[in-house]
Amino acid sequence: MEIKKVGVIGAGQMGSGIVHVLALAGYDVKLYDLSFEAGFIAVNRITKDMNKLVERDKITEQEKQQALDRINTNCRHLKALSDSDLIIECAVENENVKREILLELQSSLSEQTMLTTNTSSISITRLAAQTDRPERFMGLHFMNPVPQMKLVELVKGIATGEEISDTLKNVVEKLGKSYTMSEDFPGFIVNRILMPMINEAIYALYEGVGNVESIDKSMRLGANHPMGPLQLADFIGLDTCQAIMNVLHDGLGDTKYLPCPLLKKYVDANWLGRKNNRGFYDYHVDPPKPTR
Ligand code: NAD
Repeated sequence: MEIKKVGVIGAGQMGSGIVHVLALAGYDVKLYDLSFEAGFIAVNRITKDMNKLVERDKITEQEKQQALDRINTNCRHLKALSDSDLIIECAVENENVKREILLELQSSLSEQTMLTTNTSSISITRLAAQTDRPERFMGLHFMNPVPQMKLVELVKGIATGEEISDTLKNVVEKLGKSYTMSEDFPGFIVNRILMPMINEAIYALYEGVGNVESIDKSMRLGANHPMGPLQLADFIGLDTCQAIMNVLHDGLGDTKYLPCPLLKKYVDANWLGRKNNRGFYDYHVDPPKPTR
C-alpha cells in the first residue's frame, strides 16, 4: 500500500522529530496533541532544526519551506486525522493513554488505515488486541533524536500481517533510515539492552560508586559511548526511563529490572531531564551542571 498522508499523535520530543523526517521525505503530515499549544512548539522546534540543516547545506531553503508547508497542526480532535493512510501514535509512555487514543481514533478511520505506535516498551500484541485491526497494527519505534538516528525498530505483534510490515519497511527506507525486526517482548531489542544499563548507572550513582560526572566520563572514555548513561537518561526523559523499567519488570518478572529508587525520586521531584531543564544535570546553566 502506498502511504501519502500520515497522522502523528503526540507533539513531544519524539512526535516533533518524526514529523520533521516525514515532512522532509514528502509525506503530508497532520499532528495532533492533547495540548493544542504543543503543536506550535513542535513546529518552532522543527523550523529551528531545519534552519540548521539549511546552514549546513544539507537541504535547500526551498526544500525546508516545502517540508514545513506539508505539516498541518490545526487539529483540535483526533478525528482530524481520519483521512490518514498511516497513524503513528507517539503520546506519553502510558498504556491507558495509548489504549484510549486508539479506541477513540479507530471508529473514524477507513479500514485501510494502518495503525502504529512509537512505544518504547509496551506490548504491541496487547495494544493491537484492543483495536479493530490487529493485523494492520505494528510497533514503529524511532530513536531519539529522530532526525539524526538511523535506526527504526519494527515490532510485530502476534497478529501483525505481512502487508503492514512490507509497507513500513518502505516508509523507513524512504526516510533514509534502516530497520531491524524485533519480536514483541518487553523493551524490544534496543531498550531491553539499553535501559538496564542506564538503570545500573543510576544505581552506581545511588550507591556512591561515583558522581554524575565520573560515571558519564567513565562510560564515554572507557567504553567509547558517545554520551554518558546519565546524560542519555536526561535526554530520553527520566519519566520515560522509569516507565520502560516498569514495563520490563512487569513483563519479565525479574527483580533485576526494578527501577532504581533514585530514578523514582528524580521523577517524583519532576526533575525529568532535558525536557524540563533539570535531571541528572541542570540545563539552566551552560555547560549543564551535575545535580549530584
Ligand atoms: P514527551 O513527554 O516529550 O511528549 C509526549 C506528548 O504526548 C506531550 O506533548 C503530551 O501533551 C502528549 N499527550 C499526552 N496525552 C495525550 C493524548 N491523550 N493525546 C494526544 N497527545 C497526548 O514524550 P516523548 O519522549 O516524545 O515520548 C513519546 C513516545 O515515544 C513514548 O511512547 C515514548 O516511550 C516513545 N519514545 C521515546 C523516546 C525518547 O528517547 N524519549 C525514544 C523512543 C520512543
